[in-house]
Order: sequence, then structure tokens, then C-alpha cells
Amino acid sequence: MNVLIVNAGSSSLKYQLIEMEDESVLAKGNVERIGIEDPILKHQATGKDEVEIPEDIKNHTQAMKLVIDTLIHPEYGVINSMDEIAAVGHRVLHGGAKIFESVIVDEKVKNVIRENFELGPLHNPANLMGIEACEEVMPNTPMVAVFDTAFHQTMPAEAYTYAIPYEDYKKYSIRRYGFHGTSHRYVSKRLFKLLNRPAEGTKVVTCHLGNGSSIAAVKDGKCIDTSMGLTPLEGLPMGSRCGSIDPAIVTCLMEKKNLSPEEMSIYMNKKSGVLGVSGISSDFRDLEAAAEEGNERAKLALDMFSYSVKKYIGAYAAAMGGLDYIVFTAGIGENTPLIREHACKGLEYLGVKIDRKKNDKITSGCGVEGEISAKDSRVGIYVIPTNEELMIARDTVELLNLL
Ligand code: ADP
Repeated sequence: MNVLIVNAGSSSLKYQLIEMEDESVLAKGNVERIGIEDPILKHQATGKDEVEIPEDIKNHTQAMKLVIDTLIHPEYGVINSMDEIAAVGHRVLHGGAKIFESVIVDEKVKNVIRENFELGPLHNPANLMGIEACEEVMPNTPMVAVFDTAFHQTMPAEAYTYAIPYEDYKKYSIRRYGFHGTSHRYVSKRLFKLLNRPAEGTKVVTCHLGNGSSIAAVKDGKCIDTSMGLTPLEGLPMGSRCGSIDPAIVTCLMEKKNLSPEEMSIYMNKKSGVLGVSGISSDFRDLEAAAEEGNERAKLALDMFSYSVKKYIGAYAAAMGGLDYIVFTAGIGENTPLIREHACKGLEYLGVKIDRKKNDKITSGCGVEGEISAKDSRVGIYVIPTNEELMIARDTVELLNLL
């Protein structure tokens, strides 16, 4: 059975076709610059060269049509007809407080996505466009929506409530939602599989460290707290996002630099984080290289990041009443031994001890999973590459089987 995974952005549509018998990727690609200048489809069938197909693509429906045409193309294609796609799994950002698991797409689900446009202004409208495009192009194919916020819906009120007047939480739905839920869920499930044990009785901290970074406290397989909040701006310092700062800095800077709310938002989302501190790059590879050459600000940015990861691990050990496992994932978590080492350094009192040799082996681009804790570490430390597309595909098949 083949499942098509769709991740629609405002001007892009990423896809993967997964064969579910052996969970292999048949093809993947991205339609870029939809509705703007020079739209192009970049498509790659597994084992073949990438092809680039420039075409005048005005909207997501046309993009979706092109994707299907390419998947069944005699030369670049991997299937014979659209009927070979059993279902579509959509990645959706924000399900608000109503969606706590993956769901079959129907009018009610689409309304929830719409209701949350304000909470996910960059993603939810685009995600809905992707769904509607698929409905038009493949009207008889069942569809599933998998939400980035869903896994975090098990957080207790004390973890998700902000200390603002309660009426405003109710009126404007201002609370912690958390993001990267599909990734945190995938790596925690994968950990239990690797350990061949049930989730019950475990206290795990999952660290999704990429361009955007978040950490989750996963107790008995359920999320009880996470570092991102109402938006993906809260928590760790990130590539170009400031993460948690004293809220008074916001009003102070708006006054001093005469910034509008929109300008302040750009400042915090695009100009801050390790990019802002280092003045060099948001990419950790560039920062590592610069720090090695003696650049103090690059070193400071890296130190701030690992220090923040360490603080969250400690905080979540407190929140869960202990710690059994730490998992590192995403671009930085999977590829950067230095950050993993520094984040764990000083946590020996919690039973966290990294094996330097094992840690150094899981380095840039190797894409492997493995344990990196020392023999005498009480806490198991793991690197597990994330696979959000596969998680979406598995959820899709599970729901399809219930139809
Ligand atoms: P996102 O999906 O949030 O855009 P990623 O999970 O791809 O981000 O992470 C990107 C970050 O991972 C960058 O800061 C990059 O420096 C870091 N990184 C380190 N090594 C690699 C690598 N081999 N491949 C990709 N990203 C890497």
C-alpha cells in the first residue's frame, strides 16, 4: 500500500510517496515558488537522479496535479496510476486545544484548522490549501491530518497556562501548545522499540534540535511539558529565533528602536538566536567552524545553546520526578557531537554520563541511530534520527484500517 505525505507551505508543497509494506520511500520532492516567479518542481524517485520541472504553477491545486502527473510519469514516475495511492497524510501545524491525535479529514477537522489560522498564521492556511488541493485532484482518496501540536495536548494545566489574567487565556486561547509533536512522538516511540519495553514507567527527555528547536518531557510515553509555547518562538535560543527572553525586553526594544509589533516579531524570529549573538550565521556548522578559528561570539552562541538544552533537561527531570533516557534528534541533535557533549556535561549528578567515543562517532551526515551513554551512566542517552513523514504515514494507515 502506498501513502502520499503532503506538507504544504504558503508557496511550496513538499511530498513523499511511501510504500508501507517495507516503509520505503518511492519518491519525494518539492514544488517551489507556487504562484510566484519561476515555479519549479524538484522530484526524485529513489535510486534515480533528481529532475527539475519548471512549469507555470499558479496555485496548490495545479501543484498537486503536477505532483500526481510526475508520480505516474513513464520516465520519472514510480506508480502506474493515481489509484495506487491508498491515502494521503497531511502535515498540519496547529490543532489548538481541540485536536490531540491524528484524524481523518472531514469538514469538522477543516473547521478546526480554520479556527486556528490566527495561532498558526504562516502554516494553517497553507496546510488547508494543501488539503483542498488534494480533495480536488483526488476526490475519492481518504485523507488524514497529523498535527504538530497534538502530542503535547496531554500537558497538565499547570504546564500549559501562562501567568496572565485567566480571562485573556479563555478569550484569546493564549496558552502553551508546543510544536514538533510528530517528531517528539516518533523518537520516543522509536526509543521504546529499540529498548523493547513499554512506555509505561519511563521518564524521557526528547531534544529536537534543528533550525527550530524544542525539548519535551515525556512521562509514560505522554508529553507533560515542552519548551515551545503559544508559538514556536519560546524556549531554546534557535537559528534565528530568540527563544525565551525577559518579556520586558520586547517593550523596551520597541520603544528604543521605535519598532512596530510586526517589526519586533521579525527581530525576534529572524534576526536573533545564534545568528543574532554570533553575527555570523544561523547554521551550527558555520558556528562550529568559526568557534574553532577563535571567534568568541560564535563560541558564546554555541555555549548559550548547549547551556539552555542542559537547563531544560534538568527542569524536565524535576517535572517528571526523575530521568531515565535522553534522546537527541533533528539536524543538530543527529549531527553535532559537541552540542550533545556540552548539553550533558555537568549532569553527572543526575546519572547522565556520555561516552565520548560513541558520541563522536555519530557525526555529520552519518544518519545513524545509537546509544551514546557511558557504561556507568544511569540514564540512557540516544541519538535517533527523526522521521516525521514516516510517523504521518503510519498514522494514516492506522486510521485507514479503521474506516
Ligand atoms: P529544520 O528542519 O528545523 O529546518 P534541521 O533539523 O534540518 O532544521 O537542522 C538544521 C541545523 O542542523 C543547522 O543548524 C545545521 O547546521 C545543523 N546540522 C549540522 N550538521 C548537519 C548535517 N550534516 N545536515 C544537516 N544539518 C546539519
